[in-house]
Amino acid sequence: MISGRVLMIEDNEQNAYLARYLLEGAGLSVTVQRNGRDGIASALADKPDLILLDIQLPDLDGYAIARELKKDERTRHIPLVAVSSFAMPGEKAKAMELGCAAYIEKPIRALNFVGVINRFLKPPEDPQ
Ligand code: MN
Repeated sequence: MISGRVLMIEDNEQNAYLARYLLEGAGLSVTVQRNGRDGIASALADKPDLILLDIQLPDLDGYAIARELKKDERTRHIPLVAVSSFAMPGEKAKAMELGCAAYIEKPIRALNFVGVINRFLKPPEDPQ
């Protein structure tokens, strides 16, 4: 089991449902926001341990969100993991250039997905 609080900015209900299922199953707590503006507000209010960022959203795209979060002192330390189905050449490079720590292609595959997220979360506190 891993621990931590994940903010997922994802407008697709099925993707959000699957990702939540996988992450909660691994021991993480998950908040979902459906658009960029709510996602940024939630990042500022809750200071999650990691943010999963869909690239195609109804208002801001994931790149714009990454830019905003990375220029803000309060959120720039939070690892961003881009999740996208674009599969366009250069998309991963663009996400990484904007400061994303990793890029995951949809459709999400269970083992790989949790493994990638886990890399950017600290191990749980020692109970002693
Ligand atoms: Mn989307």
